[in-house]
Amino acid sequence: MPPRKPSKRPKRTGPKSLPDPSDHPDSETRFVQPFEAVKTYLCPGCRQEIPPGMGHLVAVPPDAPDLRRHWHRGCWTNRNSRR
Ligand SMILES: [Zn+2]
Repeated sequence: MPPRKPSKRPKRTGPKSLPDPSDHPDSETRFVQPFEAVKTYLCPGCRQEIPPGMGHLVAVPPDAPDLRRHWHRGCWTNRNSRR
């Protein structure tokens, strides 16, 4: 194998740190109706799955709509009271 050229990569800033809507107090929340919940989501609050068919909340940071997160209702409500 030929020696690899030391490639100078532009220094990456790395993946954005894990998005946490609780860092975005302005996150817009929307209720996802049970019939809209067709996928399993991972709730960042309790790290448990939100099964399909369960109504829950989705939090959308206004400056990063791609980083929306799905939360159990209770976890979203209590997100500030637990660390
Ligand atoms: Zn949860």
